[in-house]
Parts: sequence; structure tokens; C-alpha cells
Amino acid sequence: KLHNQVQELKGNIRVFCRVRPTLQHEHDSAAQINFPDHNMEGKEIEVIGTPEKSAMGNIVNKTHPFSFDKVFGPSQQNAEIFEEISQLVQSALDGYNVCIFCYGQTGSGKTYTMSSSDGMIPRAVHQIYATAQSLSDKGWSYTMSGNFVEVYNETINDLLGSPSDLDKKKHDIRHDPKTLTTTITDVETVILDTPDKVTTILNHAQKTRSVAATAANERSSRSHSVFILKLVGVNRHTGQRSEGTLNLVDLAGSERLSHSMATGERLKETQSINKSLSCLGDVIAALGSGKEGAHIPYRNSKLTYLLQYSLGGNSKCLMFVMVSPMMAHLAESLTSLKFATKVN
Ligand code: ADP
Ligand code: MG
Repeated sequence: KLHNQVQELKGNIRVFCRVRPTLQHEHDSAAQINFPDHNMEGKEIEVIGTPEKSAMGNIVNKTHPFSFDKVFGPSQQNAEIFEEISQLVQSALDGYNVCIFCYGQTGSGKTYTMSSSDGMIPRAVHQIYATAQSLSDKGWSYTMSGNFVEVYNETINDLLGSPSDLDKKKHDIRHDPKTLTTTITDVETVILDTPDKVTTILNHAQKTRSVAATAANERSSRSHSVFILKLVGVNRHTGQRSEGTLNLVDLAGSERLSHSMATGERLKETQSINKSLSCLGDVIAALGSGKEGAHIPYRNSKLTYLLQYSLGGNSKCLMFVMVSPMMAHLAESLTSLKFATKVN
């Protein structure tokens, strides 16, 4: 709208696929899915799966082709990936509400992509900060503030609060339909007056999680974490105001969770993950259907309710579908790729 021309998106959501590399300890494993190199760095991905008998009676590997807006291969680094989303990130400075999700099974690289020290969260903060600085010549001054919450069992927890308050303090979502802004009650807000504060935020969140009764990495694979960056700009020459939000979401592991094994607390987790991921798919699909006046089921889960103003209307949305290259993960990878195809 104001500073940069963001290419118009086809539909409401774009989907990027990222295949992580084989990890050190996985090299021993003979069985790996083959993602042919010539298909990488483009839009197509062909997953070479298990051997099966062809119509001619030969044994061939079944191939599963998918296509997305972009496919990143195992050798591509976070820096290259950020380049492809930097325009979208920047549009939050122009007053857009932006959502970027990482979807995939546990171990597929969601957290590495989103919240590691060189992931999309710190990169986004540094880039936005630099761009905001450069816009000060034109009279703009921005306030950048951050919240970091998790949605766990359909409850919002503050990852920036005191660790002992996690699971205790209650937080509500408040939407203001006039300004299309969303606030969460009683959460800590960090003013990012220097971009390096993002490191403090990420460390604090990690520490908060680690104090929870559930082991930190188990907990983070069963909860959605949402980093919320609010950007309020005022132009001292023209009096113009711009208010945008960037939401960076590391979703709960998408592995199919069976109800049969789960009881008690675990059953509750399983149900709420299944519900919120399928609800997210439903909301995105309903938005993408382009049907005027279609009912969008935002209220069916906490996550979609929280992100309501960043998913519909004039907002911009991108989903990364993350896959592991291991044969052992083939079934889950195919399920993730199919989910992502549905929302695309
Ligand atoms: P998830 O959050 O989806 O459960 P992680 O991000 O924790 O998965 O990734 C699982 C493991 O793989 C971690 O040890 C992580 O460091 C590693 N990993 C993931 N993606 C990459 C990558 N692109 N390059 C190098 N290592 C990666
Ligand atoms: Mg993770």
C-alpha cells in the first residue's frame, strides 16, 4: 500500500515446501526418500516412495508428484528461504496483517526454520528494523513490539511471562472490529527498540517452556507457538498511520495421533491438536474457496480465533510444509504434502 509493491497473491495463501537434509545420525539408515535434485529449487517435488508392482509386472518405486508455489531442497539454507519471504514480511510495515505457518510432523524442521537463532523470527525482526530505520527519512517512525504465546490444549499461555505462571494465568483474546486489531489479555509485551531483543525473547520462551511439567521439546511439539510482531507507524509529515501485524507460527506436530493409545491428559492434547490443525485447514480452504459470504469457522479453535484478523480479508498468508527425507517418515510426509495441497 505505502512503501513497497507486494506482488498480488493468487488466492489468499501461498504454500512453500521445504525438505530438510538428512541429519548426522540418520546417515546410517539405508532407507531414504529420494527427492530428485532436478525437481528442487522449483515448484515441483516428486517423492519416490516404496517399491510396488507396475502394470507390466515390474517392480518400480511408486512416485508421488506434488507442486507448490516454491520447493526448497535439503541444501538450501535459512538465508535463501528468508529471501523468498522478505517481501511478505516487509508488507507488515505497510499495515498488512501477515501470517506465516510451519506445518509438518515432529522432527521435520519447523522450529529450525522458524525460531532457531538464524530462523525466520530473528531474520524478520532484523529486516523490519532496518527497513523501518530507512523509512525515517520519509518521516515514518515505527514502534515494534512482540508477544510470544503458545496455544496448548486450547488454552493460551504466555511464553514471555514468569515461568511459574505458565498453565496458571488465564489469557483471553480480544478482537476490536473497528481497528481490526487483536490483543491478548495479561501477556508481557517486549518493545523491540533494538532488534537484538529478539534473542532475549527466544531465550525467555525456551526457558519458560523448560520449566513446564511436560519436557520442553515434547511440549513444544504438542503446542502451537505464535510469535506476534506488532508494527505501528506514524508519519510526522503527513500524519498517516499504519498498523500491521506479523504472526510467525510454529504449529504442533502434524503426525496422526491416534485416540486409541491416549488416555487422560494425553487424550486431551491429541484431541485439541487434531481439532486445531483440521480447523486451520478448514479456515484456509473456506477463505480460498473465494465464495462471497462463505462462513469461515474461525471460532472452532483457539488458534484460528486468535489469528482471525490475520487470515481473512486483506491479510497475507503463507504456509511452509516441512518434510523429512527419511523413508521411515514417508507416510507422514505424504500426509503433510496432501494437507498442504488442499490448502493451496
Ligand atoms: P520440528 O520443530 O519440526 O519438530 P526441528 O526443527 O526441531 O523439527 O528439527 C529436527 C532436527 O533437524 C533438529 O535437530 C534440527 O536442528 C534439524 N534440522 C531441521 N531442519 C534442518 C536444516 N534445514 N538444516 C540442518 N538441520 C536441520
Ligand atoms: Mg519443533
